[in-house]
Amino acid sequence: MAGTAPPAWTPAKPIVQLVDVHKSFGTVEVLKGISLDVRKGEVICIIGPSGSGKSTLIRCINALVPVTSGTIRVEGIEVADPKLDKLALRRKVGMVFQQYNLFPHKTALQNVMMAPIHVLGQDRREVEERARALMRKVRLAGKEDSYPGELSGGQQQRVAIARSLAMRPDVMLFDEVTAALDPETVKEVLVTIRELAEDGMTCLLVTHEMNFARDVADHIYFTDRGVIVEHGPPSTFFTAAQDERTRRFLSQVL
Ligand code: ADP
Ligand code: MG
Repeated sequence: MAGTAPPAWTPAKPIVQLVDVHKSFGTVEVLKGISLDVRKGEVICIIGPSGSGKSTLIRCINALVPVTSGTIRVEGIEVADPKLDKLALRRKVGMVFQQYNLFPHKTALQNVMMAPIHVLGQDRREVEERARALMRKVRLAGKEDSYPGELSGGQQQRVAIARSLAMRPDVMLFDEVTAALDPETVKEVLVTIRELAEDGMTCLLVTHEMNFARDVADHIYFTDRGVIVEHGPPSTFFTAAQDERTRRFLSQVL
């Protein structure tokens, strides 16, 4: 309605809402009508075979990839709005990738401090205090002055998580953040994410870690070839999957 302000976002509404999202690259439709909600404090896991569109989906949420049609809202912000303030969106949405891409010539602490200082222009001393607290939170106290090359993959990934948290996001997106790690360091990263979730952080994760999904997720979505084939809480998802594709996938990974 002309002249009417959009209804204000309230915590009772989904913090992230996708409605019938489609995405094509050229003539190839990669997302074919995805709808899902993430509510405040929820942990949502997306699983599915490689190439099913999981990364594309998660990248659409923080506007790294523009959708072809459909609606994505983050706390009421329309992500597809041509006048979208990307910085405002990305302050709300933290993202961690498989590749942690830390700055190699900066220490762990400097990596965590950079965006709040250089992107947001926040006070250095205040940011440093917060960054040190975040290093403790991801269980890396004592590694503040280490360079990325001196840290294990799992430690670097936890620095990347702390770096993302330093922007004080309301929701965190994780795209297969343990997929490139040595098995022995996967667990420490999953522990960090679990602790974040227990603190109430809203998390949307693409993961192949089925035990983690079973233990930590509130809701699991299974995607295949750009559609959500099946979804439900872990209690039913793992034991009573209805769809043949889901059952086949689970039989291969469990
Ligand atoms: P997943 O994360 O589930 O493995 P992706 O979202 O990475 O799946 O990819 C889904 C499909 O989209 C794949 O076929 C991939 O090749 C294609 N795709 C992803 N990004 C691009 C892009 N930037 N340009 C063209 N095709 C892409
Ligand atoms: Mg992917």
